[in-house]
Amino acid sequence: MNVTNCKTCGRLFNVLSTEKICPDCKRKLEDKFQEVKEYLTEYPNASVDEVSRENDVTVKQIKQWVREERLILSEGSMEGVECEKCGKLIRTGRFCEKCKAKISDNLMSALDHPVIKTPKPTEKERDRMRFL
Ligand SMILES: [Zn+2]
Ligand SMILES: [Zn+2]
Repeated sequence: MNVTNCKTCGRLFNVLSTEKICPDCKRKLEDKFQEVKEYLTEYPNASVDEVSRENDVTVKQIKQWVREERLILSEGSMEGVECEKCGKLIRTGRFCEKCKAKISDNLMSALDHPVIKTPKPTEKERDRMRFL
């Protein structure tokens, strides 16, 4: 098991997969997310700055939630997160519609011409997998 420092409180904790923060901070962050969600239900047009100030959460964290598509910025909002490809301001996620379309085009053509072929498991291997 790997041990790492929590990015938020600096405490050492056991990493189970790819977490960067300890279970305590994760729980607190989840509570905060619920708070922000409730706040936004009440004030649907609040700006990122307002949400940050009123809920004591960093702008960076709010944008992180937007990137994870857990929060969507309202249409009227002047703020946004930048598309990771072209830098255009978007309301949620990591890429703008245009770049998203381009990326899925690329994926499609990659599917048309598969580069890596995975060998089929032999009968024996399949049996083994079943018993694992
Ligand atoms: Zn922590
Ligand atoms: Zn883009």
